[in-house]
Amino acid sequence: MHELSIAMSILELAEEEAERRGGVRVNAIHLKLGALSGVDKEALLSAYELATEQTAFAACQLVVEQIPIVVYCSKCEAERLIASIQLFECTECGTPSHNVVRGRELQVSALELGE
Ligand SMILES: [Zn+2]
Repeated sequence: MHELSIAMSILELAEEEAERRGGVRVNAIHLKLGALSGVDKEALLSAYELATEQTAFAACQLVVEQIPIVVYCSKCEAERLIASIQLFECTECGTPSHNVVRGRELQVSALELGE
């Protein structure tokens, strides 16, 4: 299961960071998840639950921030949202663009650490 290995690597990263800071508790992990990352939010959340079950991270929350796809439109000369994942067009002027600025994210953006 794709999402499970992702959940495991997120946990590993959080564990390392908690250790580096002297074994603090991690209350929450914030994750940026782009619409183009190929990872399903719900599947990832259930995989995370499975991975943390009966571990020190059981009470640690995974907070997923979904990032929409943003392209650079050469006509508007600006960053624009696209119409849909099937239609890479500027929502303002309809110019096709595949110059993706945001939407590929799969990264831990922050950790909420406890005492
Ligand atoms: Zn445009």
